[in-house]
Amino acid sequence: MRRFFISSQAITQDRAQLSGAEFHHLRHVLRLDRGVRVILYDESGATYHGEILHIAPTYAEVGITQHAPAETRAFHLTLAQSMLKGRKMDLVIEKATELGVHTIVPFVSAFTVARIPDGKRAERVARWQHLARAATKQSGGLPPEIRPPQLFPALFHSIPQNSGKIIFSERECALHLRDFARDSAQFDALHILVGPEGGFAPEEIEQAQAAGFVSVSLGASVLRAETASITAIALCQFLWRDPQFPPLS
Ligand code: SAM
Repeated sequence: MRRFFISSQAITQDRAQLSGAEFHHLRHVLRLDRGVRVILYDESGATYHGEILHIAPTYAEVGITQHAPAETRAFHLTLAQSMLKGRKMDLVIEKATELGVHTIVPFVSAFTVARIPDGKRAERVARWQHLARAATKQSGGLPPEIRPPQLFPALFHSIPQNSGKIIFSERECALHLRDFARDSAQFDALHILVGPEGGFAPEEIEQAQAAGFVSVSLGASVLRAETASITAIALCQFLWRDPQFPPLS
């Protein structure tokens, strides 16, 4: 069944009015009509199963047949990702969303090449949020919170004490993620840092370690930043999110 994002404001008891870009997608791209069953999800992650009752020129009226509250995520993964050039950042945003990341924090560090022109930050964050929302049409779940880009030092403010903290470094030779997971506590929140195409400056690794982050390796290959990010997210979700996989003994 097709999924559409809707503001909770547009939902009454058992009716919803889908308008704007989502209506355009339903009506003019997918050409859906009365009687078709759809799934709506709102900004809280609540989902509503329903049927298209009426198609007006600017909105579709959906009769809601079933409502499920947002699932509370047992494990909050926050990805702090250095800005990347071109479509690579889009790829990371999309795959991080599909993999269930809770929060994405783009940042600029010493060797970050990608830059957002002045006055375009809000527009770029809105674009990333649109990408994330589009990714949840396929994956289900809730799009991540995407914060405005920050400077590297600001990343260490307001991280909850009990959160796990990993900075992924290709220069790390002693501690592999597998060993970190085996020897670490079971987290309900984890912050991970992945650097830009040029990697982290040595003093940035030290600064992160001083803030309680552990330098961890993903293996001997020096991965592209976007590959490292997607791989790190998938492994961390596997290791800490999916309770059906018993924690490493
Ligand atoms: N500094 C390296 C260079 O210039 O060849 C490459 C940096 S790599 C392209 C970008 C980021 O991906 C790194 O900052 C790190 O966060 C992550 N990364 C890549 N390979 C990794 C590995 N084997 N283990 C941990 N992190 C890795």
